[in-house]
Amino acid sequence: MPNSPLPLIPAPLSLYPSPSFEDALSSHGQGRLIAKSVSTLQVNMGKVCNQTCHHCHVDAGPQRTESMSKDTIDQIIAVLDRTPQISTVDITGGAPEMNPHFDYLVEQCRLRDRKVIDRCNLTVFYVKGKSHLPEFLAKHEVEIVASLPCYQETNVDQQRGKGVFDRSISALQTLNKLGYGVMGTGLNLDLVYNPQGISLPPPQRELEQDYKSELMSRYGIQFNRLLTITNMPISRFLEDLQEVDQVDSYYTLLVNSFNTTTVEDVMCRSLINVGWDGRLSDCDFNQMLDLTLQNDSPQWIKDFNLPNLEHRPIVTGSHCFGCTAGAGSSCGGALA
Ligand code: SF4
Ligand code: SF4
Repeated sequence: MPNSPLPLIPAPLSLYPSPSFEDALSSHGQGRLIAKSVSTLQVNMGKVCNQTCHHCHVDAGPQRTESMSKDTIDQIIAVLDRTPQISTVDITGGAPEMNPHFDYLVEQCRLRDRKVIDRCNLTVFYVKGKSHLPEFLAKHEVEIVASLPCYQETNVDQQRGKGVFDRSISALQTLNKLGYGVMGTGLNLDLVYNPQGISLPPPQRELEQDYKSELMSRYGIQFNRLLTITNMPISRFLEDLQEVDQVDSYYTLLVNSFNTTTVEDVMCRSLINVGWDGRLSDCDFNQMLDLTLQNDSPQWIKDFNLPNLEHRPIVTGSHCFGCTAGAGSSCGGALA
C-alpha cells in the first residue's frame, strides 16, 4: 500500500497556489505523508448544529439533516471491541450532542475504557432537551474541547452569532462548578481559539496566558489549555474569503508560512475520521472535501481493518497548507 500510486485529488478551487502541497513537502526533503498509526477515531456525528458560525468548515447549521444512525454507531463500537490500539474517540460534528444517539456513543466508549473527547460549542447546553449534558459529561469524565475564539463579546458574537458569548460564559461557569478545568479533578476543559480574519494564530502559550487572566478576572472562569487552530480555506471560511477577494492572499500566507517541523505530527498521521454516513477519511477536512481514503484502504467503518489503515498514504491537497503553516494546526492545537 505505501507504494500505491498517488490518488487524483479534485481541487476545491481553481485558484490553487503554486507549489502544490506535495511539491512543498518534496522541496523540504520530505516524502509524501504516510500515516504512523491509528490511535484516535474521530467521529463526526453529523452536520446538525444550533449555530451557523462564519468560519465553520462543516457548513453546519439548524437546517442540516445529516446525522449518524445508531447502526453506524454500533459499527464504531464493534471496531473498538476488535481494535484495542484505538485509545481515544474524538467526537465532533456539527454539534455532536444534537445527534439523538450521542449519549449512547459516549456511554459505550467509556464502558470500553476509551478516552472520549467532546468538541462542544457550549451553547448546545441551552437547546431544549440538552440541559442534562454538563452533568452527563462530568459523570462519564468526558474531555471537553470548547470553542471560544476570543474573551471579548463583540468578536465572539461576530464570528459565532448574537448572544453566543454570554451563553458560552454561562456554560463555562457551569462546567467549572462541576469541576471542569479545576486542577486536581481530572475533568479536562480546553478552549479553542481561531483567528477572526486573514491571519495565522498568535503563539499558543502567550495567548493562553492572556485568556487565563482575562477569563479569571472578568468571569472567574478556569480552564486547562488553550488550543490555537488555523482557519481552513474550505467551506464557509472559503466563501468568506471569496466575498472579500482574499483567497489568493490567504493561500499565499499559508504557503509562505510552511513549517517543515509540523509535518511529523499532523493529525492525519495518527487518526481516522468517520463521517456521519460511516465513510472513512484521513481527517475532518478531507471528509468535507469528499476526499476519501486512498483506493487500497477500507472505505467504510464496517470494513475497518487496522493493518490496512496503519502506514497508509494520506490523501493531501492544497488545504493541507492550513495544517503546516506557522506553528502548525490540528484538533489538539499548535504542533510546533
Ligand atoms: S463551527 Fe461548530 S458551532 Fe459553529 S456552526 Fe460549525 S459546527 Fe456549529
Ligand atoms: S488537512 Fe487533513 S490530510 Fe491534510 S495535512 Fe491536515 S490533517 Fe492531514
